[in-house]
Amino acid sequence: MIEFHFLGTAAGVPTPKRNVTALGVRFPQQRNWVLIDCGEGTQHQLMHSELTLSRLNTIFLTHLHGDHCYGLPGILASRSLQGSGSEQTLTVIGPPGTERLIKTIIELTELNLNYPLKIVEFTPEDWQKQHWDFPGLSVQPVALSHSIPSFAYRFTEAPRPGRFEVAKAKADGIPPGPIYQQLQQGKSITLADGRLINGLDYIAAPPKPRQFIIGGDNDRPECLQSALLDCDLLIHEATMTEEMRAAIQGYVSHSTASDVAQIAEQAQLPNLVLTHFSARFMDRQHALQSVIDEARQHYSGKLFLANDFMQFHLDREGKLTQYNPSHTVQS
Ligand SMILES: [Zn+2]
Repeated sequence: MIEFHFLGTAAGVPTPKRNVTALGVRFPQQRNWVLIDCGEGTQHQLMHSELTLSRLNTIFLTHLHGDHCYGLPGILASRSLQGSGSEQTLTVIGPPGTERLIKTIIELTELNLNYPLKIVEFTPEDWQKQHWDFPGLSVQPVALSHSIPSFAYRFTEAPRPGRFEVAKAKADGIPPGPIYQQLQQGKSITLADGRLINGLDYIAAPPKPRQFIIGGDNDRPECLQSALLDCDLLIHEATMTEEMRAAIQGYVSHSTASDVAQIAEQAQLPNLVLTHFSARFMDRQHALQSVIDEARQHYSGKLFLANDFMQFHLDREGKLTQYNPSHTVQS
């Protein structure tokens, strides 16, 4: 299972029920996890989750607006005070300015870290050449449209082997034992009764690698059109509704629920999670209902509105499920 832990789902400023943006992602069979954006107070939010700072190994910043990165000083400093595991390298990946921001914090606040810190910057000019490999997956940035350089991150799982079909092997009278292991490796074996068995006949087709995109602030979701092909999931801001945007004079650097829903539908995306809601909603459930209604006019897939502390998992087949329903707004 790939796990998603929503740590902050408000746009701009926190509200009593929503902190500013942060999202933890943990991959199958790994104790380490990655953080996408780090709004102020993210380390407090982490205390209410099962994720620990000592196991955080990469932070991806979508852009440098404060509600996405003012939590960095606290996270960097507190990670030095954690137990076993916190001496591992922490990598921060982000747009231009990331290095200056972090180095300034470290210098001016005389911050001593007990772990190696690696900072990786990319630019609006070279983002297409970037990709970062992790055990079992790779990550690429995708440029978005916002008032400052802003990016999404596209996660692609490495190919996985097909499962060994135990039931089929048993049905064909192949006795269970160490030979199952050999067949699982695709080897051919000769049974005691003389039959020659090819392991490849008992390995299911490999599952489709899971792919998902986590967006930063963005006023043109169509920037993600080609990147969304074959994706299982998009997590994207829906800061406001069409009605709210119409009431604002001038340039609005964010998306509406309608904008995102349309692009998701065009891509035939199976799972969409909307987040980063304007404080204008003021945590009123019925106000967020307008986000759901607007998205539903365009999008027929599985739709969720994120809440702080919501957790989801994306299973092997690319199905997204929330596994702490007490935090549901509505799906
Ligand atoms: Zn922003």
